[in-house]
Amino acid sequence: MARIVEVATARLVRQLHTPFVTALRRTSEVVSVAVRLTDADGRTGFGEGPQVWRVTGESLAGIEACVLGPLADILLGWDPADEAPSAAASTLGAAVVGNGGAKAACEMAVLDLLAQEAELPLAQLVGATTSSVATDVTLAAQGGFDEGVDASQFGQLKIKVGLDPADVDRVVRIAQEAPGRPVRIDANQAWDLETASRSIGALLAAGVVLEFVEQPLPAWDLAGHAELRRRWGTPIVLDESVFSIHDLRRAIDVQAGDVVNIKLAKCGGIYAGLAIAAEATGAGLGLMVGSMMESELGVSAAAALAAAISPDAVHDLDAAWWSIPLSDAASPYRDGRFVLDPSPGSMHAAGRVVPDSGWYARG
Ligand SMILES: [Mg+2]
Repeated sequence: MARIVEVATARLVRQLHTPFVTALRRTSEVVSVAVRLTDADGRTGFGEGPQVWRVTGESLAGIEACVLGPLADILLGWDPADEAPSAAASTLGAAVVGNGGAKAACEMAVLDLLAQEAELPLAQLVGATTSSVATDVTLAAQGGFDEGVDASQFGQLKIKVGLDPADVDRVVRIAQEAPGRPVRIDANQAWDLETASRSIGALLAAGVVLEFVEQPLPAWDLAGHAELRRRWGTPIVLDESVFSIHDLRRAIDVQAGDVVNIKLAKCGGIYAGLAIAAEATGAGLGLMVGSMMESELGVSAAAALAAAISPDAVHDLDAAWWSIPLSDAASPYRDGRFVLDPSPGSMHAAGRVVPDSGWYARG
């Protein structure tokens, strides 16, 4: 391989085939940041970082500034092949606090270059042996399902709750469409302890089979999550509570959760995700991998992590499905699964989504 000679970013704009409706907003377009690394041989590697004001605090402009500033300082002139594939994660991780999406996007692009060099799919480079992973599909907090979403290919639903007092009735109605099938609910921190407890109790009393309840309480409230587990025995998934391996250790100490939802934009990349997964597994926790609203570029990397750490779980990787035309024969979504690209490097999705122009480069 060769030294990295250029770092570039561009805005990645995608229209959704079905608007994603929540009580807060109606989204029909998603914009993220694509990262492109070019080495001295002219080879390119790609990554993606999502804007997530309400979870990570990262913005489009912030990701661009981080990538083209301190992260480019490290990447330019560096030959990743001189070190282990995990080196990018530790070097980028040490340079900047937070900014998980920017760091993850750069690590994806480095791993794409390394995987091309090794003539391996990225998923295989990071330890995966399967060729696809199962994913749920998300029903938005309001609307969504009634607006023509054909989610029939997916075997598992994740229902967003927490913004509407009628949530419990809605979940019961959806659950009754397939009696006995477990449903996942995700409150995205919206409840307090008593609201969460009342809602879980009402759902169980109505006969709803809850596979799990994800992040019912604010990220900081580990004790509240532990209390909910004790009261109801319903598995709790920690998402916004766990960014780093240190967050995970604190959660384990107080027995706050049963499963951790790992996202690259929170933890900062695939190797950080692998470390979190090993720690969680050692403590007896289950694993799932999720993503932010991003394209198949970022989701490809998340799916590689998912395949490496928990090939049999049903993950939370439907984000890109919303922006791929339903008639697209090359869609990576097939029969409720995300199919990993088998060619060297994993980020060939880049060819389908990144723009030809609008790149800001530093070399
Ligand atoms: Mg979540």
